[in-house]
Amino acid sequence: MTSSAYIHIPFCNNICSYCDFSKMFYDKKIVKKYLEELKNDINTNYKGEKLNTIYIGGGTPSALSISELKELFDIIKVLKLKQNYEFTIECNFDSITKEKLDLFKQVGINRISFGLESINKNNLIFLERSLSKTKVEEIIKYCNRIGLSNINVDLIYAIPNESLEVLEKDLDFILSLDIKHISTYSLIIEDHTKLKIKNVEEIDEDIDNDMYKLICSKLSDFNHYEISNFAKEGFESKHNLVYWHNEEYYGFGLSASGYEGTIRYTKTKSITKYLNGDYVNSNSIEYLSKKDKIEYEVLLNLRLKEGIKLRKFKEKYNDLSKYFNYKNLIDKGLLKEKYGHLYIPEDLWYISNRIIVEFFMEVI
Ligand code: SF4
Repeated sequence: MTSSAYIHIPFCNNICSYCDFSKMFYDKKIVKKYLEELKNDINTNYKGEKLNTIYIGGGTPSALSISELKELFDIIKVLKLKQNYEFTIECNFDSITKEKLDLFKQVGINRISFGLESINKNNLIFLERSLSKTKVEEIIKYCNRIGLSNINVDLIYAIPNESLEVLEKDLDFILSLDIKHISTYSLIIEDHTKLKIKNVEEIDEDIDNDMYKLICSKLSDFNHYEISNFAKEGFESKHNLVYWHNEEYYGFGLSASGYEGTIRYTKTKSITKYLNGDYVNSNSIEYLSKKDKIEYEVLLNLRLKEGIKLRKFKEKYNDLSKYFNYKNLIDKGLLKEKYGHLYIPEDLWYISNRIIVEFFMEVI
């Protein structure tokens, strides 16, 4: 049962050096055509279920003008929501305005995710981003004042030449804001980014680990519910939990990924094809066998503090021990089993990728 939807808005006012998302410079004429096609995409593929979560990401959705945003919300109106829904929109501080926030409130958005990334001047130059601390403080205050208090900010760390002191200042600033959720990202130099073209190298793994540990200790008042995510109790991202619980979701818009029934798909990254209604080509559809579904379940669940809920897993598939000899990893101290949950202990999250690889080697 599909109970969530991701909607991609690929427009940005500025292109950041590290970005490998599907994005392009804001262009009024293309936005117009894009919204028309997005409407077709949603109307053709949405099957009418009531949804728990909607997430508008990008790109930079807040780069759209007020009238374009109104048009977008008009298109989305067709998506039915359950009572305790979560409706998130991603924003950047340089394009957000009080007027846009008022509109978000009016249309029922109840969670905002801001790309803050860093307040350090050198980091911002490196990332090719701009940020005004005063505007950040003003906007966060305004969100809280109008009742949009479920706020996330994104932080990027492990930026070349960044020190632990610089990271600590970023964290102190974030902690001074009245927000409910923090998502952290270790900088990865992805293919097809400006940084890759310039042959920039990622920082040493040991420094990266030290930074991760600093983040975990500074954010100890938050619930560290997923490897990279921290929330005040009760403000864990419902939408992202859909991904980590391996539940189904629609993907609408350019390059959007979805998971429905026995397929996972990624829509075209070509704006020309998308605008022609050619959303998905056959090689971007993955047909899932039971084994594939089990592997996704394990891979995604193990990112969470709660880990794999063994009873739920059994109801969906069968006993986990019928597929993996995970007791070996428990014996090595890499996994723990408690109260029906199988999970990676928090102090080993910094090597979680290695543990997950070992897990898959224990296939029966
Ligand atoms: S990081 Fe965000 S704002 Fe920067 S180019 Fe990518 S999508 Fe746009």
